[in-house]
Amino acid sequence: MQNKDFNRNLDVAIIGAGFSGLYMVHSMRNRGLSVKSFEKGNGVGGTWYWNRYPGAGSDIESLEYSYSFSEELQQEWKWKERYASQPELEAYLEHVADRFDLNKDIELNVSVDEMVWIQDQARWKVTLSTGEVISARFMVMATGLLSSPKKVEFEASDEFKGELYKTYDWPHEDVSFKGKKVGIIGTGSTAVQAIPIIAETADELFVFQRTPNFSAPRNNGPLDPEYENRVKAMYPEWREMQKNSFGGYVSVNFQPMFPNPNAGADMSDEQILEEFEFRWKSGGLAFYTSFYDLLGNKELNDKLGDFFRDKIRTKIKDPKKAEKLIPKDYPILTKRLCADTNYYETFNNDYVHIVDIKEDPIIRFIENGIQTQNNTYELDQIIIATGFDAITGAMVNLNIKGADGKTLSEEWLQGPRTNAGLMTNGFPNMFFVNGPGSCTGFFNPVLNVEYQGEWIGDLIDHMRNNDHSIVDSDVSGDDTWSEKMAEVARDTLFWGSNNWYIGANIDGKAQVMQLYLGGFPAYKEYTKELADQNYRSFNFLN
Ligand code: NAP
Repeated sequence: MQNKDFNRNLDVAIIGAGFSGLYMVHSMRNRGLSVKSFEKGNGVGGTWYWNRYPGAGSDIESLEYSYSFSEELQQEWKWKERYASQPELEAYLEHVADRFDLNKDIELNVSVDEMVWIQDQARWKVTLSTGEVISARFMVMATGLLSSPKKVEFEASDEFKGELYKTYDWPHEDVSFKGKKVGIIGTGSTAVQAIPIIAETADELFVFQRTPNFSAPRNNGPLDPEYENRVKAMYPEWREMQKNSFGGYVSVNFQPMFPNPNAGADMSDEQILEEFEFRWKSGGLAFYTSFYDLLGNKELNDKLGDFFRDKIRTKIKDPKKAEKLIPKDYPILTKRLCADTNYYETFNNDYVHIVDIKEDPIIRFIENGIQTQNNTYELDQIIIATGFDAITGAMVNLNIKGADGKTLSEEWLQGPRTNAGLMTNGFPNMFFVNGPGSCTGFFNPVLNVEYQGEWIGDLIDHMRNNDHSIVDSDVSGDDTWSEKMAEVARDTLFWGSNNWYIGANIDGKAQVMQLYLGGFPAYKEYTKELADQNYRSFNFLN
């Protein structure tokens, strides 16, 4: 039924056209719903559209970090590398958009400025950056986990007359570092990927580090055809293994492996070391599944920390530089483990410097560089890699008014509350994918959106079959899930570092575990049970 108050009336409006948004367009349209995705970028890809800095790529293997919904797609797409780089991921997502004819339902260069719930029409009124006002029966927030940059202000940043770059909004044109003095601020996963590439051509590189990070070797390279054939010959079974695992990736040393079911506490030091060496050889994120008690048992966690500290010492020749680059005062894995190609080795070049800005803080930008408390660094280029207001940032920064005029940012001031990461009370007909309260971040986001997307689609079908026009999460559903989330996170070591999972990287942000740490199998069981029990803890209105 057309409503004349609006320029257009949709069944479903989706915000974003990254991995999540693309899947949701496909899935909602297959269910016969009219759908549009609004994407502020000039192309599809989301994270993989914006973060085009040198070295950007995924830390989950390409054969696993890809859609599973189409057997033809997963058989026919040929990945070049073990871990896909940004250009390849962007090309893959463009291919998916073309192949499934998604582009006709994606509007690029359009952002959503405001969303207001109109109860008596059972619709969201959505104001777009184009000035158009549309309505949608349902909203899907496919806004991304790491898409809203952290706001970092450096004194006098506009005085700097050189080139200023932000990794999360990297230019589409080539940036040359040749013959340049470059400064980069931040040493998270982003910087750890970018630094070795920048150092290949820069004249001089200054890395401004506040907290050192642990990084495992990424062991990237061309995808071995024998391995690719082996996975593709059993792709459906491989995907099932992924979907039944904690983290959604099962490849360790090119074999599918479930997380080690053993507790490190029950193992001898030799067995522990053997397991760590095995994971080091595989590289990347394989450590997360080495022992299930790694993030709860301080003594075991310290053993892994020591293992990494020893490895880092062997990589960096200058002991003074090594000591600066070695993390010492927080539990390993609580800040997301980085994965690198030659990160530590890069500092063996005389022209690559580590500046400890805890010891010697940045005071201000100056016309030709950065001034710290004790030094002046002359720079041609400054790169900001200071991270994201993760998980909730993209949504609370949007102007969203739910039932009774409540805004989402007010509602989530003390941290996000959701019913199983799918909805939040007071914001009817608004769904999250790969958002707070989901397993994503600890689980492969590509497989997560496929699961959450179908759960949401089934809920919408249920409403259509029963003539319901409104669904809202009951406050008791949000309470139960928030308690479950807090319970699994309470005794972990995550509270020991300023990581983005708990919002501690953003000043003033409420510190709560924003993602579900209980694992995907438990998440699936819980959400299936909700659906089977007639959508327990969701309220419907006609
Ligand atoms: P990040 O991990 O949050 O790192 C931000 C860095 O900037 C940290 O070193 C931080 O220091 C520093 N920083 C923040 N505010 C600062 C300030 N005011 N002054 C000086 N330094 C400051 O962000 P990221 O590197 O963009 O990575 C975020 C997440 O994105 C990763 O954890 C990962 O999940 C994902 N990611 C994945 C990949 C991949 O799969 N390969 C690549 C890139 C990113 P402190 O630690 O002291 O706060």
